Amino acid sequence: MNHVTDLQCVLCGTSYSVEEVAYSCPACGPLGVLEVHYDYEQVARQFSRESLLTNHDMTMWRYRALLPISYSLNIVPPLAIGGTPLYAVERLRVKLGMTHLWLKDDSRNPSASLKDRASIIAVMRAEGKTVACASTGNAASSLAVQAAAQGLPCYIFVPHNAPRAKIVQLLMCGATVFAVQGSYDDAFDLCIEACNAFGWYNRNTGYNPYLVEGKKTVGLEIAEQLNWEVPDSVLVPTGDGCIISGAYRGFEDLYRLGMIERIPRMIAVQAEGSPAIARALEGDGVVRQYPAQTVADGISVGLPRNGAMAVKHIRASGGYGVTVTDEQILSAEKELARQTGVFAEPSGAASYAGLLRLLDEGKIARDERVVLLVTGSGLKSIDAVIGTAGSVVPIEKGVEGMEMVSSIVRQGYT
Ligand SMILES: *Cc1c(COP(=O)(O)O)cnc(C)c1O
Ligand SMILES: [Zn+2]
Repeated sequence: MNHVTDLQCVLCGTSYSVEEVAYSCPACGPLGVLEVHYDYEQVARQFSRESLLTNHDMTMWRYRALLPISYSLNIVPPLAIGGTPLYAVERLRVKLGMTHLWLKDDSRNPSASLKDRASIIAVMRAEGKTVACASTGNAASSLAVQAAAQGLPCYIFVPHNAPRAKIVQLLMCGATVFAVQGSYDDAFDLCIEACNAFGWYNRNTGYNPYLVEGKKTVGLEIAEQLNWEVPDSVLVPTGDGCIISGAYRGFEDLYRLGMIERIPRMIAVQAEGSPAIARALEGDGVVRQYPAQTVADGISVGLPRNGAMAVKHIRASGGYGVTVTDEQILSAEKELARQTGVFAEPSGAASYAGLLRLLDEGKIARDERVVLLVTGSGLKSIDAVIGTAGSVVPIEKGVEGMEMVSSIVRQGYT
């Protein structure tokens, strides 16, 4: 993997070689997350705007010259990950009085969330070993889906109250699921211990430095889909802070390669009940633990595992954080579905809730070029919205049914 030069700790700044460490900084522990650095001259020999013109692979593997996978390794993921649509959401854009608005729909991945972009890197780097991770749900289901596709045993640690659909997805794919009587943070620590004890490959978010590199393909895609005219702002639902760092890293790589002229503002949208990164950005930049309590399970994180890196990247981009209430998230989820047809899970719709707040406060101008990132599918979390979705109209069958339909439609019931 000689296009990767080194791994650098976000806390103490020490650089390590790829062979030296597998996960986080040995001096700083699990929060000493390592940033992957590349030899861009070497990358540029494989990758350019021109090389993309003749590349017909529309999955994230299109960008493999920028991924931490050895160039000499001739592997192709069995599932199609990435290459998700960037919609110009006309109805919604007009309704909001905006001039440029796009929605990047990453619910359209094999496991129905953006996490697939990271899990594939873990599965490729596991080299046949058993894989494991702690997760609020989506990281786990994406790992389980891909472990199934490649025939790897898979152990999962989730908080016992993870959404049912995500747990069923794990079980269907044959993962062993440990439902921890505790929080995501408790599951995280247990998983590290178990990986150390049994030699499993650990896909824990933040702790494993290569995952952010998979997630950066979402930034690469947005830039290419906009024909290298990057947006002004990208709104990212944020929990641990890996997706937002990933998207930033994608733009940063392109900037370093001279393929784009600037890096968009990265805006972290967090739940009011899980605000650690937003609070750090408002304050001294140090990420502290907060109690995590929100309906948006995918961004419900007490101590963000990639907090330091996320704050660094958000600040470097000129971005900031914003929080939204659960009520705002659920109402945004419903409106997004009704205006665009994209049914996001609560965490996925948080980006739209954040946009509404920022437009309201005048922090985002209506003529800005804005991309909303939708990170996961609403079908994964129906319990969250079953009470607010609306209700069905019960009718009889046959003639009687038709009479009921007629009378209800004539009354103007919608
Ligand atoms: C994981 C996840 C997020 C947050 O990503 P982080 O890297 O933890 O910030 C947002 N939305 C969904 C649907 C997720 O699964
Ligand atoms: Zn360190």
